[in-house]
Amino acid sequence: MIIAIDGHSSCGKSTIAKGIAQSLNFVYIDTGAMYRAVTLYAMRHDCVSNQEKLAKIINDIHIHFEINPHTKAQQTFLNGENVEDKIRALEVANLVSEVSKIAFVRKKMVALQQSYAVHGNIVMDGRDIGTVVFPNADFKFFVTASAQVRAQRRYDELQAKGEHVNFDEVLQNIEQRDFIDSTRSESPLRQAEDAVLVDTSNMTREEQLTWILHYIAQHKK
Ligand code: C5P
Repeated sequence: MIIAIDGHSSCGKSTIAKGIAQSLNFVYIDTGAMYRAVTLYAMRHDCVSNQEKLAKIINDIHIHFEINPHTKAQQTFLNGENVEDKIRALEVANLVSEVSKIAFVRKKMVALQQSYAVHGNIVMDGRDIGTVVFPNADFKFFVTASAQVRAQRRYDELQAKGEHVNFDEVLQNIEQRDFIDSTRSESPLRQAEDAVLVDTSNMTREEQLTWILHYIAQHKK
């Protein structure tokens, strides 16, 4: 079974996806982490705005996930290095939408994402999972919340991690990513026609997960 969770930046979709995967014992794939890892690689090789150079080194990028045995959290590895914390920094968030709109980057990531389906039951979150990566997914959810609510949640998360950011900067990053993600020509962020809309603005994390798990249980074939 494939469950696709798409939606806007910082809407809580990865928390929902992780919760579903844990409850149903599915494999969870965070596709945003993959685009973030490519962005970090491009930053390190000074080619975020140099597509010609990035095209030459794109095949040197190897991404995989591992579960931390202590925290049980999924961690992203870039060419063998654990980059989980580095890819969450605001510097990466500020550039990731620029990198993820490049056609050859998407082509490589989509092929990798599709290859994960051989592992059986998966929950995948991103922007184009229900529209491009798995148009025939068994379940598609499109998660959103107001930009203010999303920025507040993201701000609280970054503060808790000790990153000193200001709220307006976080809100601006979210609005800018929404804009680039939904207006790009390559697989823009949009709700698939057959996706179920989940607005989390006024829902707690528990309510979101309970609602979706209930929906899956009710509609499973
Ligand atoms: O989900 P997350 O916020 O970590 O994603 C980071 C960025 O990666 C998004 O803003 C978007 O530009 C890009 N992305 C994408 N397609 C996906 C997942 C993420 O373009 N399937």
